[in-house]
Amino acid sequence: MSEKVRVRFAPSPTGPLHIGGVRTALYNYLLARKTGGTFILRIEDTDQTRFVPGAEQYILDSLAWLGISPDEGVGVGGPHAPYRQSERKSLYKQYADQLIQEGKAYYAFDSSEELDAMRTMYESKGSAFQYNALTRVKLRNSLAMSPGELESLLASDTPYVIRLKVPAKGEIRFQDSVRDWVHVHTSSMDDKVLMKSDGMPTYHLANVVDDHIMEITHVIRGEEWLPSAPLHILLYQSFGWKAPQFAHLPLLLKPEGNGKLSKRDADLGGFPVFPMEWTDPQTGAVSKGFRQEGYLPAATLNFLAFLGWNPGTEQELFSLEELVDAFSLERINKAGAKFDVNKAKWFNQQYLKQADLAELAKIYLPHLALADAKAFVHLFLDRVTFPKEISQLVQEFTQRPQVYDEAVLASKWNVEAQQGLQVIAAHLPTCADWDADGIKHTIHVSLEAAGIKMGKVMQMLRVALSGNGAGPDLMISMQLWGKEEVIARLQAALSVFPKLSE
Ligand code: GLU
Repeated sequence: MSEKVRVRFAPSPTGPLHIGGVRTALYNYLLARKTGGTFILRIEDTDQTRFVPGAEQYILDSLAWLGISPDEGVGVGGPHAPYRQSERKSLYKQYADQLIQEGKAYYAFDSSEELDAMRTMYESKGSAFQYNALTRVKLRNSLAMSPGELESLLASDTPYVIRLKVPAKGEIRFQDSVRDWVHVHTSSMDDKVLMKSDGMPTYHLANVVDDHIMEITHVIRGEEWLPSAPLHILLYQSFGWKAPQFAHLPLLLKPEGNGKLSKRDADLGGFPVFPMEWTDPQTGAVSKGFRQEGYLPAATLNFLAFLGWNPGTEQELFSLEELVDAFSLERINKAGAKFDVNKAKWFNQQYLKQADLAELAKIYLPHLALADAKAFVHLFLDRVTFPKEISQLVQEFTQRPQVYDEAVLASKWNVEAQQGLQVIAAHLPTCADWDADGIKHTIHVSLEAAGIKMGKVMQMLRVALSGNGAGPDLMISMQLWGKEEVIARLQAALSVFPKLSE
């Protein structure tokens, strides 16, 4: 690659950033890091009607949480500042004017009522109205009126939009990094509005102008923008600019794979589709976030990287640095990516196993002494998906059992087990080193002396102490309960278990 890679993530702050948007940001970031290029964050906020307070900050916070940090852009600055399109407003009109002067765009004065009437008329004939080479000659625009008429409309400040004059005949072709060759006939495209009557550029004009000015080399974005890409290519051609390389990322699909993933799926499935919790400023409704659910940033990134990309090997766990090394546009899949929340949980469990025990202990068990808290985290870490579950498990763990597993009692409570528990209860008070090894040693030695096999007793010991037939490492559990508590629990159990005699 000869030119230096410059990529951008260009979200519109119209609500909480969808997790698919975060994936787009991630892939842009990975390509920039891999090639020693530049990753830019541009905020596309020209559509004032869709502005949502807090949405921009939400985007910045989400990217910061995941460590997808821009080199240039909103919040960072850079040579092409400002990076918020609403602050670049004055810049776009000259480009639309340039196309008008070159005969590649035109003024259109049709009111929305007139256009609605056209649409209705076409619909009644069973077809769809398009503002294009066939219809524009019959509509109210500068191509269909005399220079005098145009002048007087402009002089009287009649509201107008500027539309691109899409050629009647021609083909737009480009090679997308993911979709390969895309061909579209210009006859199927309509004369898109470039400047709105309020003087604001549309998304299409602002997006192309900014990508050109900011020297963007690769446009990596969601597949929903693929239908707009031919128009964007035509705009680059009209300006005489080199178009960037496009890469349209596959859709994120529902967990079952049929159709696009929606917020509704998330609500029904009880999983998040937003990186962080979001409170709708209008309704106050709260949407779940990966962060608040307890997903670790590294697990979230790893999960997102695999939604539409694969390394071509069996390896699944990738740190951000490893993703940078392994990433390439060529390995992005064409097919939609199923959003499998179980996979997200799996990644979280893998990363939890590598997490810093002391850090988790301080966050989730702040009321305990650090050494005990760390031991608890260690004990429960492989039994949880989210670290916040540890607090709950510890709470349950520290409560004395109210009931005892009936099934285990029925099958394992026998004379030998009873003797075993009695022997253990008699010897534990003598255990000098109350840690897992010391406890194990005491139990082992005392049972052996009594001629009882450990295997006959241990599950009943667990039931006696915890009420449950299964659970975390029993010796460490006993260490954490403490000597007095263990003896008290054991005696309590022996007093309620049925008395057996030989
Ligand atoms: N503002 C568009 C969006 O919200 C950007 C699309 C693009 O990357 O070109 O997704």
